[in-house]
Amino acid sequence: SYEFIHDYELALNCYFMLLVLLLVCRIAMIHTRDRRELVYSAQIDGLTSLYNKEHTPPVIDAFLRTGSPDLLHAFLILDIDKFKDVNDTWGHAVGDVILQRVGAFLKAQFRDEDIIGRIGGDEFVILMKNIGSKDIALLGQIRAVKHAEMDNQSITFSVGLAFSPEQGIRFDDLYRNADKALYQTKRGGRNNYTVYEKA
Ligand code: GH3
Ligand code: MG
Repeated sequence: SYEFIHDYELALNCYFMLLVLLLVCRIAMIHTRDRRELVYSAQIDGLTSLYNKEHTPPVIDAFLRTGSPDLLHAFLILDIDKFKDVNDTWGHAVGDVILQRVGAFLKAQFRDEDIIGRIGGDEFVILMKNIGSKDIALLGQIRAVKHAEMDNQSITFSVGLAFSPEQGIRFDDLYRNADKALYQTKRGGRNNYTVYEKA
């Protein structure tokens, strides 16, 4: 007459096991999400959502290692001209807005496969993969963007450029050479670009 207790016990066991299973699934999901968020925050610049300073070099190196030596890639360093003045005149918060906008602008201008990173306060690098020619039309487009927060003024960039594989097959070499070219642009009055030349 107490046989029904056995049925109840079975049902309770099943219910309990289901609960444990759901709990394990939930913990695994939270763990995966946390891990993904951790990896994301370790690789992505919080302000611009571009690759950050730590992650940009290995991503570029990984691509260059696998790329064909026959293909031409352009490595650019973009540095905003007189950005300290933007912060000093309009405030740091406006400076942050400008940096975010520049990040979004670069993402929109370049192809999805190009690698874009923010590696310094106002310094960005881009690896344009497999380019057909050495023309750069970007500077004029950047100049054309007006910023409401700055009384509709625009900002300008100085750019240094090096080509791979000619002028480097690793991030460090490309960066060093493009940085020398950037220095020339700054010395030459800014708002322009210079292509690295060995001489
Ligand atoms: P130059 O034309 O020679 O590049 O002059 P510059 O004033 O742009 O000088 P530099 O590139 O050395 O200065 C970068 C400035 O960017 C310094 C710092 O105040 C500012 N900065 C760095 N990180 C941030 C940030 O996250 N937000 C804001 N708003 N400003 C930043
Ligand atoms: Mg600058």
